Amino acid sequence: MPATDISQDAVIIGGGFYGAAIAIYLAKQRGLKRIVLAERESALLTRASYSNQARVHNGYHYPRSFTTAYRSRVNVPKFVHDWPDAVKQDFTKLYAIARRNSKVTAKQFERFCREIGARIRPAAPALRALFEPRLIEDVFLVEEYAFDTTKLASWAERELKECGVHIRFETRATKISKGPNGMLSVALQPNCRTEELISCRYVFNCTYSGLNQFKGEFPGIRTGLKQEITEMALMQVPPVLQGLGITVMDGPFFSMMPFPARGLHTLSHVRYTPHLHWNDQQGIDPYRKLNDYERATRVDRMIRDVGRYLPAMLDAKYVDSLFEVKTVLVKNEGDDGRPILFEKHPELPGCYSVLGGKIDNIYDVLEKLDAEQFVGIAVQEHARSGVMNG
Ligand SMILES: Cc1cc2nc3c(=O)[nH]c(=O)nc-3n(C[C@H](O)[C@H](O)[C@H](O)COP(=O)(O)OP(=O)(O)OC[C@H]3O[C@@H](n4cnc5c(N)ncnc54)[C@H](O)[C@@H]3O)c2cc1C
Repeated sequence: MPATDISQDAVIIGGGFYGAAIAIYLAKQRGLKRIVLAERESALLTRASYSNQARVHNGYHYPRSFTTAYRSRVNVPKFVHDWPDAVKQDFTKLYAIARRNSKVTAKQFERFCREIGARIRPAAPALRALFEPRLIEDVFLVEEYAFDTTKLASWAERELKECGVHIRFETRATKISKGPNGMLSVALQPNCRTEELISCRYVFNCTYSGLNQFKGEFPGIRTGLKQEITEMALMQVPPVLQGLGITVMDGPFFSMMPFPARGLHTLSHVRYTPHLHWNDQQGIDPYRKLNDYERATRVDRMIRDVGRYLPAMLDAKYVDSLFEVKTVLVKNEGDDGRPILFEKHPELPGCYSVLGGKIDNIYDVLEKLDAEQFVGIAVQEHARSGVMNG
């Protein structure tokens, strides 16, 4: 028989940036006292929150999704303000527009940047000279930053401790069901130990690619999700490219960005970064699928293509690859938009599923949470005894 723990105000499933930030919000802003955070890995922010391109999006990347671009413009100043130590600003960011096969022309890109209020200037001749002029129409200097995920992880660790959130590492949540007295029940499976049931008022499913992988009465996510096994190459770039971040828009091109957590650059390529994709469904565990994947690097193909546009990249040294499952909403496949997913499950009142899409979207999630009512168990019990004593 699984053991039943004492009741909790909330169980947060997933210790990525979103799970951690939501736990801290509930404790600090909403006064919930008893919060458990379950994370299947042995540390915080080790999955998608680590293995990503570390770009603090500032709108430029989304000429096909005005809403996403606009929301980034609103959120970025807040992100920079709230996590100044985790944001790297001391590099030069260039967006270049390809002459062929681009879904946007240089003129359209400039107009789009003006519409979203994002600063854009022609790049200096020395920077333009890095690009092959027969393939690149124009090069712009923009304002975009990178985040250091290890610093976000240290922040999360510190704050969670200060708020008294009980973190359960190496513990997988497997089932979400209705419990007695209007509570919810979450089954936790710690590594090598027996399953435990935790009874709680609220459950936050912040498991990113694992959002649909729950048994019990969990109904699944209503929004279609696409899963992609992705590879980002970690590169030591030659001196001429150090201090630069470069994105070639908009179509089957590439990005290289500083990756502050390792002092290297990530290299992603629209054609070679996604290795494998499928439509998400309950029972196909993306984490297991990634574990079983052979992970043969495609860095040679990335560099061969990137070198045509940016010859200096041919001198970059390959160090490592970050393989991760990337989860996106099926509805945004065409426009590359990255809205949040925020679902309440009417079948399980108090249960929420959240997918941020990108790091600065945290403010869109917190805005949704601001509109929700949360009552801690201690407060509920106090109110109940007040009624009885009164
Ligand atoms: C290749 C790639 C590039 C990206 N580039 C950028 C970028 O440049 N800029 C940007 O802003 N965003 C980018 N993103 C998106 C960004 O990484 C995510 O939006 C963000 O990290 C999601 O945070 P999260 O907390 O939801 O997910 P995660 O960090 O993955 O956290 C989910 C956690 O849940 C845990 N978990 C899962 N299932 C269970 C379970 N059953 N029980 C217990 N724990 C569980 C996992 O171990 C994991 O730690 C990129 C993503 C990828 C994959």
